[in-house]
Amino acid sequence: MENHLNLILGLPDVTVREFTMLEDGICLKIKLTNLGTHCPLCQSYSTEIHQNRPILVRDLPCFDKATYLQIPRRQFYCRHCQKYFTENLPWIESKRRHTRRYEKNIFERVKSSNLAQVASIEGLSYDEIQGIFNHWASNIAEQQWLGARRISLDEIAMRKGHKNYKAVICDLDRHKLIEVIDGRTQDCLISRLSELPLQVRKAVKEVSVDMWHGFPKVIQEVFPNAQIVTDRFHVMKPLVEELKKIAKSSGVKEQNKLSLFLKNGIDLNNGERDELENLLSSSKSKRLKAAYEYKEEFRQIYETSQTVSEGQNRFEEWLQKARKIYGKVIQTISDHLPTICNYFISHSSSGTMEGINNKIKLIKRQGYGFRNFENFRLRLLSAFS
Ligand SMILES: [Zn+2]
Repeated sequence: MENHLNLILGLPDVTVREFTMLEDGICLKIKLTNLGTHCPLCQSYSTEIHQNRPILVRDLPCFDKATYLQIPRRQFYCRHCQKYFTENLPWIESKRRHTRRYEKNIFERVKSSNLAQVASIEGLSYDEIQGIFNHWASNIAEQQWLGARRISLDEIAMRKGHKNYKAVICDLDRHKLIEVIDGRTQDCLISRLSELPLQVRKAVKEVSVDMWHGFPKVIQEVFPNAQIVTDRFHVMKPLVEELKKIAKSSGVKEQNKLSLFLKNGIDLNNGERDELENLLSSSKSKRLKAAYEYKEEFRQIYETSQTVSEGQNRFEEWLQKARKIYGKVIQTISDHLPTICNYFISHSSSGTMEGINNKIKLIKRQGYGFRNFENFRLRLLSAFS
């Protein structure tokens, strides 16, 4: 009988000594079968038990009953170090009141539902579940930055019109969120990012950002080896906005027609292309035709330039030509041209991060009740682990 229980329990060096029914579940009193253990300081083996204080920990449920283990917490004496130490059990972290596998299970379930629901099913308080979740998520959050080479730095508004912005950092190679920061000012970004180990910061080779003037200083201070890339998506945006204005003022009002102008030419299907041709040839506005062609040409430069210098030459030519049509946008692009052209170093763009943004939005909506920023941060980062 006990033999079977040991097998089901599946913990190393453990045997079930006693079984009791509790009001809200079952309790297995267990015995550790190893006589001694290694000192964490000098690794020498000790069998001198100094103290043995049993503790009660929660484990995964057995036959749908809440299951607790009463485990001996043994303190040994190391003759070599002349010190006492508590035995390390691989299946429970020190000072925790749940087995590792139970906590892992809670963590995964919270990720796919929510804290309140898991708390109610497990008969634990909201705060206890939050504690378990945050404990696991913190470990994950620490790992997120490892291996980051190319990243994007962007912002999200927590609620429309509330001026409550968070900075979000994504790994462009692994397509995942790796950090969320409570605020987006220069000082805030510098102080928070400087907490990362220098080794991690030095490994970052490229940071993709929008055209906010505050980013270069942040990047130079925090990531000493990184190239700044003005993100392609953020360069195209004002250009496309301006084209939209021109199209509207030339009499194109309907949304479906407008979208033909704004879409990438290469993404239009045959029907759409014909319709756009008709609109362009029937329009009396030479300005609209030119604006559309310049927009497409700009996109082509992005698509087909191979090197930084090629991209730069072609953009400079383009800026000369398009100046008459795209007045204000030209100035913005000229101001950022060197970092815009850094795009051609590795051709990365955060435009491909749409999936990440959607996931963030979803969690933001679900997490209406996050009690503080840190909880929200850990919830977000876990979703990308
Ligand atoms: Zn020792």
